[in-house]
Amino acid sequence: MLARPTTVNPAIVSKAVAALIDMDVLVEGALRPDEKRTGRPVKPLRLDGDTWGLAGITVEHNDDKPVALTGLITSLRADIDRDVLVEHTVELRDASFFDLAHHIHQLIEHLQQELNTIEGRPKGQARQLMGIGIQVAAPVHQGKILGGTHIGIPAGEDYDLATPLQDLTGIPVVVDNDVNLLAVRELYRSEYKERDLAIVAVLQDGVGAALILDGHVYRGGGGMAGEPGHHQVLPLPLPPTLDEESLRHSLSVGACHCGKENHVDCFAVPVRLRSALDQPFKDAARVRSRDENSELTEAGWIFRRGGNALGQGLATIINSVNPSRIVMMMRKELASVARGDQSAAAEYIDAMEEAVDEYSFNRGAHNARAGANMLTRVTLDPQQTPRIGALCAALRVLDSFVLHARGRDECGNA
Ligand SMILES: [Zn+2]
Repeated sequence: MLARPTTVNPAIVSKAVAALIDMDVLVEGALRPDEKRTGRPVKPLRLDGDTWGLAGITVEHNDDKPVALTGLITSLRADIDRDVLVEHTVELRDASFFDLAHHIHQLIEHLQQELNTIEGRPKGQARQLMGIGIQVAAPVHQGKILGGTHIGIPAGEDYDLATPLQDLTGIPVVVDNDVNLLAVRELYRSEYKERDLAIVAVLQDGVGAALILDGHVYRGGGGMAGEPGHHQVLPLPLPPTLDEESLRHSLSVGACHCGKENHVDCFAVPVRLRSALDQPFKDAARVRSRDENSELTEAGWIFRRGGNALGQGLATIINSVNPSRIVMMMRKELASVARGDQSAAAEYIDAMEEAVDEYSFNRGAHNARAGANMLTRVTLDPQQTPRIGALCAALRVLDSFVLHARGRDECGNA
């Protein structure tokens, strides 16, 4: 997935590999027979070594402020189950994006000290950081965080977090958006064979998307490609006994966090569904969706409207980029529910699939299901999201080298 096979001079490859082995970036495995052809055995190479590490940081924010940082250092293999060497979470009090570089610097120093203690290396031989990746839940363009109503940076302004952090640490820094980082991970683990994918994450208070087009994460002209959460939905299904005004009142559907009305995020995200039913999301998702007469219950209506809104947002992606697979990353209650099990969560998924069919052009919905009869759903556990985000951010450091080498980063120099 990383690169299509291409014809290069073998001598150049050997030279480059030797240099990378010298730097302890690549490690040679044991000789083994070539499974594809007879003749000389092959020596497998992998990214590894104990000289380098990658740091990743997730910035969590709430009420317009950064409230926590989750950081980790991983080896170059960057597998979340095997290769995280050290990790730590700190809560922030009264922090803002403008003093974030200072807090991240402190966390990086803490992680490095802890790692040195764990690895017990002699002075001067500590593992070096190849770079620091930062995940933020905001659009990022040319390395700068774009201001918005929900993150504490005024809309219309942007903030360069990388430069002050590089100045403090002396280490290269790359900043990226949370859902784009989930997509970067998909590039490297090759779970799906398609080269045109949409990754859609139903996060607690917003639906985000990342587009992988022809094997690359597409960020758009200004870093805002793929924002189904801010799609304005067409009128949603209504209970026959309620009009829109009273339903609005009973559901307390307020404006989107961006300030506009009737966006997908107003209906489809766990915090809205949970507060409409006034109970924890995991309980709300299990409430029966139909009564004894097979009529939708209040929970059934609320979740059906949420799923319909989400399906409309997905159709905008289908109609604009025609992905050959959409991967829905959602809480377990939504990702693993079986269709037709009469729970509110199942009603949500049914409505999402139906709206995708209703609002997508021609065979777009069929394409997005990649040969299955439903969209691909995978679990994204909110408890694990900061940790996964930090790992994806660490991986983004490696990706930035690849993007540079392929002339696809902002500097444009291969
Ligand atoms: Zn909005």
